[in-house]
Amino acid sequence: MTAFSLEPAQLAWCAELRALAAERLRPLAEKGEPGRVNRALVAELGRLGLVGRLFGAGALDLCLMRESLAQACTEAETALALQGLGAHPVHAHGTAAQRARWLPGVTDGTAVAAFALTEPGAGSDAAALALTAHPDGPGRWRLSGEKCWISNAPEADFYTVFARTTPGAGARGVTAFLLPADRPGLTGHGLDMLSPHPIGALGFDGVPVTADDVLGEVDRGFRVAMGTLNLFRPSVGAFAVGMAQAALDATLDHTARRDAFGGKLRDLQAVSHQVAEMALRTEAARLMVYAAATAYDAGDADVPRRSAMAKLLATETAQYVVDTAVQLHGARALRRGHLLEHLYREVRAPRVYEGASEVQRGIIAKELYARQEAR
Ligand SMILES: Cc1cc2nc3c(=O)[nH]c(=O)nc-3n(C[C@H](O)[C@H](O)[C@H](O)COP(=O)(O)OP(=O)(O)OC[C@H]3O[C@@H](n4cnc5c(N)ncnc54)[C@H](O)[C@@H]3O)c2cc1C
Repeated sequence: MTAFSLEPAQLAWCAELRALAAERLRPLAEKGEPGRVNRALVAELGRLGLVGRLFGAGALDLCLMRESLAQACTEAETALALQGLGAHPVHAHGTAAQRARWLPGVTDGTAVAAFALTEPGAGSDAAALALTAHPDGPGRWRLSGEKCWISNAPEADFYTVFARTTPGAGARGVTAFLLPADRPGLTGHGLDMLSPHPIGALGFDGVPVTADDVLGEVDRGFRVAMGTLNLFRPSVGAFAVGMAQAALDATLDHTARRDAFGGKLRDLQAVSHQVAEMALRTEAARLMVYAAATAYDAGDADVPRRSAMAKLLATETAQYVVDTAVQLHGARALRRGHLLEHLYREVRAPRVYEGASEVQRGIIAKELYARQEAR
């Protein structure tokens, strides 16, 4: 157990990832089209071996990757995370045939993955999902309904789709399907979002699926979804910490150079104390993320509480740090194309997705009272 500093080899790996992000991934990200999947970027993540590393990796490795990439190139960070989110259910629950068909392409960055859980009527309350898998003969179903706010839709090559196989059974009546994008009846369109990465909605008009497409067991798909989100939750915090660190670094640089009132901005205590506060909160969030990821890798019992705390603290902290960085930069930070203008758009959504901040508080409180009752 560590309390908490990284090993020299881990620190060196993080530095290497930051350099790769700045030198190899940033130029590709800059050539991408807003709201579209950047296939050249995903392929480079594959060539660099980073997508492959996702699957063997534990939660801490995943966090170190996301934090390091986010510091230099949020687009690369998000493209990597989405390959993981969409394909982790195949890696963890897929049959040999499903894994052989999709994982090599995901790993080398030629097959784009997506995770389709949310619907217009079921966001935070994911167990209320209504996309229906109608029986269509033994081991056959037809999917009807909608998904929305799905990252990488509608351009992904396959979707992990969660559908209702047993009506009225809540979380116990959901099945995960591996759905190739070329199935008849599947349509989609992009949604223009504040968040820079591609997001879309999907329509299902009697899309045929069979037992060969099921991930895990029929009616046990909610576990597939929650298992994936449990792994990824601390790493959303790591993404946030990477963004906060990038905003802090830019602010240190700017306030040390900017002339104001006969000195530099940093000479004003009102400024330097804000920088100290940004650093303090970023470091606290980082430690909590590492602790949650380490607990996950150790299989500790208190993972739900730690993961919820880490995601909540880190995403709220990053919002504060990026906002303060904008303030200390003044007008230039609001110019389109400035790093902070980009981070200001990036930092908002993680407080909503993979469990909104309020949902994390609910998890923390539930865990605390359960522990109290067990005493
Ligand atoms: C950029 C982005 C990318 C996304 N990518 C994906 C994806 O790839 N796949 C996918 O399946 N989904 C994705 N989503 C959807 C995301 O998971 C949902 O937005 C999220 O679950 C919240 O659902 P909702 O937006 O319907 O909000 P609602 O569930 O309608 O909640 C709205 C608000 O109500 C409050 N609230 C909700 N529940 C509670 C509660 N229990 N206690 C207190 N307050 C509460 C919160 O303030 C919450 O923000 C993405 C969303 C965004 C913004």
